[in-house]
Amino acid sequence: MREFAYQRATRVRDALEAGHDGGRYLGGGTNLVDLMKYGVEAPARLVDVRFLPLDGVRVTPDGGLVIGATTTNSDAAAHPEVRRRFPALSQAVLAGASGQLRNMATVGGNLLQRTRCAYFTDSAQRCNKRVPGSGCAAIAGEHHNHAVLGWSEHCVATHPSDMAVALAAFDAVVHHESLEGAGETPLSEFYLPVGDTPSRETALTPGALITSVTLPGSAVLPRSRYRKVRERASYAFATVSVAAALDLHDGLVRDTRIALGGVASRPWRALAAEEALRGGPATAERFLAAADAALADAEPLRDNGYKVTLARNLITAVLTGLAEESDR
Ligand code: SF4
Repeated sequence: MREFAYQRATRVRDALEAGHDGGRYLGGGTNLVDLMKYGVEAPARLVDVRFLPLDGVRVTPDGGLVIGATTTNSDAAAHPEVRRRFPALSQAVLAGASGQLRNMATVGGNLLQRTRCAYFTDSAQRCNKRVPGSGCAAIAGEHHNHAVLGWSEHCVATHPSDMAVALAAFDAVVHHESLEGAGETPLSEFYLPVGDTPSRETALTPGALITSVTLPGSAVLPRSRYRKVRERASYAFATVSVAAALDLHDGLVRDTRIALGGVASRPWRALAAEEALRGGPATAERFLAAADAALADAEPLRDNGYKVTLARNLITAVLTGLAEESDR
């Protein structure tokens, strides 16, 4: 690990001044510090933001939530209002890592964690995300757990966050601040398409700090669920995951939300699947048709076609489970 400066900030303004010129914000450090050890990240200065007054969860007048950026994953998952209003979000966070990591990791840091593509962390390998223009070793190499949707010839990595998948399903908005002022970006626009610049992952400008995430109230979506398939029972990143919510009225789908994880460079909102379901009966055939709509644009690589089948089955299983719950 290279030498770096460390600075602890207790006011947002101080953090922004320390971070705007090449500094990196340190939350729980559960990803960034590992990347520094691997030599993938080499910031000259770490600005510790854990002591900023940005933690906590509160309910908004419309029944939504504000989740502070320095709230730990454990606190976010356990918060009674998160569990009651957005159970899929709580389940996603709990599926995300070990208890020790969740106790350290923050909501803001979770959104900014980087891919676990093995070539990205191996500095002997070609990787456009780590060294722009160097190529992508995964395309011809080991890619069974890489993307099947939204990838480009420059990068086929997947996004590792479980939390972000649930946030994508619920139309979350990311709030941020920089020396130029405050801003907000819908999660649907926060992660950039991979395109030909995979090293540029989010819409955040250099030096900007995530301050909170908001979720709009969703009284029409009383039931939601997050389900994750992974290669071992715990502490593994998603092979495929699904965050979904279903609101039924008289057997018809009044509203729904579906997002996928483990399949693309960013959380993948399945709008076509939602559209295919709304207004019609909640039947097994229609759940299958919705899953097919979600995956219509899938382009599996040489060794990961199984993910398309897995995602199809997982979407239908989650929707079926939600419909059965609604009948009770
Ligand atoms: Fe790098 Fe992306 Fe290729 Fe992995 S898939 S080696 S992260 S460019």
